[in-house]
Amino acid sequence: MLLDMDITIALKNFYGSYDIKSFSLFESSKINEKFPSLKLKTVNKGISIEVKCSICGNFHCYRYSFYEIIKGDLIVGGCEALGMPLFYIGNYDKVKQKVDRCNNVNKSLYAMM
Ligand SMILES: [Zn+2]
Repeated sequence: MLLDMDITIALKNFYGSYDIKSFSLFESSKINEKFPSLKLKTVNKGISIEVKCSICGNFHCYRYSFYEIIKGDLIVGGCEALGMPLFYIGNYDKVKQKVDRCNNVNKSLYAMM
């Protein structure tokens, strides 16, 4: 059986909104190309992600198993220093839904300032 290894990543950019892209997990070089501040590697039974944090400026590392990714829950990676969400990984619909909400909140915040 072939597993569907398509994932969607939404990464907070330096402007405070999210960039959203979909990939196959086996195209990690493509992911790194599209998100220069994110390094994704497939490791034993999972992936490791290193992100240059747009919130605090440091690098954060994360590790997820393939099982966590394909079971369909939304994965949230947060800034370790400030405890704020930094990226979302999951299927497209879930990620898009989450990110749309955040991007709209940001827009209305800017509108108020
Ligand atoms: Zn951070």
